[in-house]
Amino acid sequence: MNFSSSKSFLIPLAFILFLITDYIRRTLYYPSIKELLVTSGLLIAISLIAYFALRQLIKNSDTSITITTIGLFLLFCYTPIFSFLGECARRVAGGGFVRHRFIMPLTIVLATCLSLWALRNKKHSKVINAYFSLLFAALLIYNIFAIFGVDRKSKQGEAVQARVENTGSVASVERITLGYKPDIYFILLDSYCSPASLRKYWHVDNSRFEDHLKELGFFIAEDSISAYDSTIYSLSSTLNMSSYDDQISGTDAFGLIEKNSFTKKLIENGYKFINLSIFDIWGNRKYYDSSYFNEAANLAERILMDSLIGVVKAQFIDVEKALNAQQLIVKELMDLPGRRKMTQRPIFAYAHLMITHPPAFLDREGKRRTFGLLSAAGYKQQIEYAGKVISSVIDRILTSSSRPPIVILQGDHGSRIGKKEWRQKEQFSVLNAIYLPKNDYALFSENISPPATLKLVAAQYLNEETPIR
Ligand SMILES: [Zn+2]
Repeated sequence: MNFSSSKSFLIPLAFILFLITDYIRRTLYYPSIKELLVTSGLLIAISLIAYFALRQLIKNSDTSITITTIGLFLLFCYTPIFSFLGECARRVAGGGFVRHRFIMPLTIVLATCLSLWALRNKKHSKVINAYFSLLFAALLIYNIFAIFGVDRKSKQGEAVQARVENTGSVASVERITLGYKPDIYFILLDSYCSPASLRKYWHVDNSRFEDHLKELGFFIAEDSISAYDSTIYSLSSTLNMSSYDDQISGTDAFGLIEKNSFTKKLIENGYKFINLSIFDIWGNRKYYDSSYFNEAANLAERILMDSLIGVVKAQFIDVEKALNAQQLIVKELMDLPGRRKMTQRPIFAYAHLMITHPPAFLDREGKRRTFGLLSAAGYKQQIEYAGKVISSVIDRILTSSSRPPIVILQGDHGSRIGKKEWRQKEQFSVLNAIYLPKNDYALFSENISPPATLKLVAAQYLNEETPIR
């Protein structure tokens, strides 16, 4: 096969387009135009720097492009390579050696061998480049068809429909009079999926935790769906009681959380805001930094998270610091109701816990344990542990509060680490449980969304009308 040098420049470009479309196809995350431009710009810049550096050393344009592409492939496709080899190993040998410490050196050795082979003879590069161009062109076409084809409509259509519809109008809701302003606890369990998902996809029997909540008077939505599968977008929607909006960027989302309307309404209603979250909100600094959990805000960060760099970085997560923050929040939640005096203003506490967020770092007893980045066993154990911790927290909140409070217990998205066949649904499913002083849940449906839940609470228990967006 003959492939001219000038055309070779298209290969890294085709790779970059493949990488971006592949991410969108796999995760159903739709980036904004700005994110697309920034991400492809960054990837092109990285490719050019690598190419010109190699060109200085090798003095051959084709070979430099070959090695640049191999390098890009290894760097950015590490997670798909790992999953692919892992799946092969599981089928052949039960998967005992599917560990980064085995797969990572193996892929690096393979990439180095291929690069050395390209270096030995100029012709080898031409062969590799021809295969690369065919491969990336084919994969790119496949991805584009998968994204815009019937596939996406059937898989995402339902979810989007539910996501949009669930933030319905609450104009006709009657106000509930309690004679006091209840304390409000908003406890967010990051990555905790819905009861329906836990049963259907994870085959987890979570009845102990669910029954306990129900006995206490909680309502648990069986099949709650979030508008987004990303923390910041999800919370910007929930805390603003607004529905799905594909126009907002990562920066917008942070801004929307910082100036969110739910907290604003509570502050205006005389509430004292206690920020135990990972966000700055209305002048209250965040309680801790969530960067240990690889929460990605935009397309570039997401792609980097899946890359070799992201995987290596995840191995060095400062677990101690992260774990410490979780324990402090749990303690705060336990102490808050007892500390609060009757004469003081009512409180609104937003606690954001990462104890159910992959990569798992705790076992079912809450002891430190390292699971893989995408460990299903780890996720299940953390769900079990969270059930125990949250049960005691809720017990304490309900028994120590002098007047019945409102407790909202929610996830922001699913685990996002499940099997390909169901991940696209699971990643939008969320825990959504609520405790209201009069235990009246007539208006709460089994698939009520997190923003709709807050909107109903605001409409029923806060003085002002909730603007409907
Ligand atoms: Zn999250």
